[in-house]
Amino acid sequence: MTTRENELKAIEQQLKSDLADAEKEIEQLDDQVRDFGETSELAEGADNHPGDDSDRLTEQQRLLTIRGQLAERKADIEHAIEKVASGEFGVCERCGNQIPSGRLEALPFARYCVDCQEILDRDRVETV
Ligand SMILES: [Zn+2]
Repeated sequence: MTTRENELKAIEQQLKSDLADAEKEIEQLDDQVRDFGETSELAEGADNHPGDDSDRLTEQQRLLTIRGQLAERKADIEHAIEKVASGEFGVCERCGNQIPSGRLEALPFARYCVDCQEILDRDRVETV
């Protein structure tokens, strides 16, 4: 095996373990969200405490936001694993340049180089 192949193998292992972590976190969040749903059904029968209800909604909203972020990360990791398999790992999907290895070490599932990521983030903020 070449050094490059060894590196990719290691990266793939890392990505797969990240993926397993993300899946576990999503499962735990789902459990929490489900518990919340059950608790609020019980609370409805037990009347009053409108303040508690809005707190509960805020908390549930927060959990769902985190869950959304995790689901995005999971999709990015899966995508990165596909890129390893297709030999495109480490290539920026916007400009086609090699993503610097320092960035990939910090963020192995990065899709873009730093420059493109900044441009995309800016666009996203402007369109919101
Ligand atoms: Zn780029």
